[in-house]
Amino acid sequence: MSTDALPILIAGGGIGGLAAALALVRKGRRVLVLERAAALGEVGAGIQLGPNAFHAFDALGVGDTARAMAIYVDRLRLMDALSAAEICHIDLGERFRARFGNPYAVVHRGDLHGVLLKACRGSPLIELRTSAAVARYEQEGGSVAAILASGEAVRGAALIGADGLWSNVRKQLVDDGPPRVSGHTTYRSVIPTERMPEQLRWNAATLWAGPKCHIVHYPLQGWKTFNLVVTCHNDAPEPVAGKPVSHAEVTAGFQHLHPTARSIIDHGRDWKLWVLCDRDPVENWVEGRVALLGDAAHPMLQYMAQGACMAMEDAVCLAQMISAHPGAIEAALAAYNARRMLRTARVQLQSRAMGEHVYHPAGAHAALRNAIMAAKTQEEWYDTVAWIYGGGAVQEEA
Ligand SMILES: Cc1cc2nc3c(=O)[nH]c(=O)nc-3n(C[C@H](O)[C@H](O)[C@H](O)COP(=O)(O)OP(=O)(O)OC[C@H]3O[C@@H](n4cnc5c(N)ncnc54)[C@H](O)[C@@H]3O)c2cc1C
Repeated sequence: MSTDALPILIAGGGIGGLAAALALVRKGRRVLVLERAAALGEVGAGIQLGPNAFHAFDALGVGDTARAMAIYVDRLRLMDALSAAEICHIDLGERFRARFGNPYAVVHRGDLHGVLLKACRGSPLIELRTSAAVARYEQEGGSVAAILASGEAVRGAALIGADGLWSNVRKQLVDDGPPRVSGHTTYRSVIPTERMPEQLRWNAATLWAGPKCHIVHYPLQGWKTFNLVVTCHNDAPEPVAGKPVSHAEVTAGFQHLHPTARSIIDHGRDWKLWVLCDRDPVENWVEGRVALLGDAAHPMLQYMAQGACMAMEDAVCLAQMISAHPGAIEAALAAYNARRMLRTARVQLQSRAMGEHVYHPAGAHAALRNAIMAAKTQEEWYDTVAWIYGGGAVQEEA
C-alpha cells in the first residue's frame, strides 16, 4: 500500500484536532483521530471568536452551523476597574464586518466543539478513537507510527500533534521542557443571565482592567447565561487546570476594585481555577512526517482571545499545504510550519504584552494605557487589529 493511502493520524480531539480532521478530509485524505479521553468534549465556558475564526469555519465547511450557534456582540469594551469608567471600545457593527468580511462572536466552547464533532462524525473519511493516548512516535521509511500508552503502534502517513499544552508529541519533537507558568490565576464561572447585575447585561465582550487583575464577561447560549472569567496576577507557582475553588478565594484578589466591578464577581458560583501557562515561540514544529498544531505548537495566554482561532487557522493551512504537495508529506509539513510560525509567534508574544500593558497595569502605567487607548478612532482601531482579523491567514494559495 502506498503510504499516501494510510490515514493521517491526529493526536488530540480538541478544537484544533477536529478542525484539522475536517480540513484534511476536504482535501480527500483519510484521518484517524486518537484522543486520550474516554469521551470527546470540551469543559463548559465561553470563547471569543474573531472574524478570522469564521474565515476558518468557512474553509472547514461549517460556516453556517457555526454562525447559527454564535452570539454577535456589538462591541469590545475596555473598562477601568478602579473608576468604573469606559476607557474605549471597538465597534463590531456593520463597518467592522464589512472591513473584515465576517463578524466577531462569542460562543459556548461545548457548542463550538459540538459543531466540529458533528461534522467529523458525518464524514466517512474520519475515524474517531477515544481512550487512545499517544505516548510517542516512531518514523521509518515512508510512514510514521503513533505509539499509544497501551503499547499499540498505529501506522499513518503523517502524525499531527494536536494534543494541547502538555503535548507528548511536542515533548519528543521539540523537547523544550514544561510550559512557562505565567503566575496568572484565572477563575471561570458561567451564571444564569438573571444573576448578572441588570445594568451590566451588555451585548459586549467586556474587559475590566485593574492593577494586577482583570474581569471579562459576555453573554452566552442565546443570552441564557453570562460567561465570567476573572484573573489575578498572584505569582501562582504551579500549573493548575480546572480545579474547583471557593467563592471567598476568588473574591480575595479583587477587593481593591470599584464596587461595580466587584459586584460582577459576587454573582459567580461553582468557580474553577486555572493557572495560565504559555511558551516562548519556537521556529520548528516539524520532524519528517510529524508536525504540531494549535496549543501543542504555540500555547499562548488568552489575552488576545486567539488560541482556538489560531488552531483552526493552522488546520486550514495544514490541509492546504498537504493538498499543494501531492506525494510529498514532509515538504507539505515544512511549508505549513513556515507559513504559520511568524503569525502565531506574534500572537503568543503580543498576548503576553497585552497582559502587562493593557490588562494589569497600575498607576502611571495604567494612566498611559487609558490615554493611548482612549485617543484612537474606530478607523485606527480597525487598522490596529487588521493583521489578526483580516482574511489573509486562511486564503487558498497555490
Ligand atoms: C481561560 C482561557 C480563555 C480562553 N479564551 C479563548 C478565546 O476567547 N478565544 C480563543 O480563540 N481561544 C481562547 N483560549 C485558548 C483556547 O482554549 C485554546 O487555544 C484551544 O482550545 C487549543 O485547542 P487545541 O485543540 O490545540 O488544544 P486542547 O483544547 O488542549 O485539546 C487537546 C486535546 O488533546 C487531547 N490529548 C492530550 N494529550 C493527548 C495524548 N497524549 N494523546 C491523545 N490525545 C491527547 C486532550 O484530551 C484534548 O482533547 C482560552 C484559553 C483559556 C485557558
